Amino acid sequence: MPDGKELPENSAAHQLAEKIERDGPISLGEYMAIANAAYYASKDPLGEEGDFVTAPEISQMFGEMVGIWIADLWLRKGSPGHCHYVELGPGRGTLAADALRTMAKFGCDPMVHFVETSPILKSRQAELHHDAIWHESVETLPEDAPLLIIANEFFDALPVEQFISTQAGWRRHMVARNRNKFIAIPGTKNIGTQISTSSKDLPAGTILESSPVSVEILSQISNRLARQSGVLLIIDYGYDRPGTGSTVQAVKGHLPISPFDSPGTSDLTAHVDFHALANVARTQFLSVHGPAEQGQWLKAIGIDQRAATLTEAAPDHLEAIDAAHHRLTHVDEMGRLFRVMAATSTDWPEPEGFVYADEEESV
Ligand code: SAH
Repeated sequence: MPDGKELPENSAAHQLAEKIERDGPISLGEYMAIANAAYYASKDPLGEEGDFVTAPEISQMFGEMVGIWIADLWLRKGSPGHCHYVELGPGRGTLAADALRTMAKFGCDPMVHFVETSPILKSRQAELHHDAIWHESVETLPEDAPLLIIANEFFDALPVEQFISTQAGWRRHMVARNRNKFIAIPGTKNIGTQISTSSKDLPAGTILESSPVSVEILSQISNRLARQSGVLLIIDYGYDRPGTGSTVQAVKGHLPISPFDSPGTSDLTAHVDFHALANVARTQFLSVHGPAEQGQWLKAIGIDQRAATLTEAAPDHLEAIDAAHHRLTHVDEMGRLFRVMAATSTDWPEPEGFVYADEEESV
């Protein structure tokens, strides 16, 4: 039986197997892009009954804190009348709902734009946001006013490429088929010229990762912020300094599985390289703040007080509020692994929340 024919037709696995059979091995980034596009187009993966839970789905406090952070900046900027709230990969629209409700209390009522490719998630978002405007990419975002851009767990869903050091030189990590399974193999072309001089002598077996798609999206957004002014907030799990090793992982039904087991039916992610993203923003002359740990950032902008107020209003929910607060802020939960980084055009004020960030840690 030709390779891939045993797989359900129209499945991402079938499409990938056929492509590899026809054209030969594809890069890891291509594999991730096709797998994730199929994955997000096929289902709403969020929530306890899905594959993973994100911070805004844990508690309204998360989106409220993001809303307070934006409103504070907007007020200190002098309350510009016309601006755009932009969210990249807004999931179910929960963060936007909590943030916009909070911002409205301060008089901040921007137009709402969502950059989203999944038709299923678009219709979830439309249930909560009747007046939003959807975009397939950041290119079509409006050009006439300041942008307030939020990306929570967006960049980790974008594809990465990997380069592996072999005895014969640096090679791109490719995905091939072997005995009806997807496997990663070093490519045949020597790509040593693409590796920075400082990494050239790393021992055989070392893997370097980069996300050209993330860099491209961030440079487009940074360019807009520099021209139109505004702020960007990125929250995601990742690392502050350049590192080595693969961070690609797959999750299905809240459990880790091999990234090569079921493309298109598991969530494929990679850790976000904040160092690289910060450099892109700086190239466009934006000010970069952080990254800070999510727990420290949330506490610095008042999540403890918000939890206390919510508990006062609904004492029966004390345990649930405490549990959510713990999950969002504790170092053993999302508090440390998740990082918060902001980039602002030079005419916007200094954002709150980055006071706890250790100077040594900042990129
Ligand atoms: N921010 C939400 C959802 C995170 S899941 C939350 O915190 O709950 C990742 C989101 O990014 C989903 O909405 C997914 O459909 C979207 N997404 C993934 N790849 C994308 C791409 N290339 N362009 C636009 N949206 C994308």
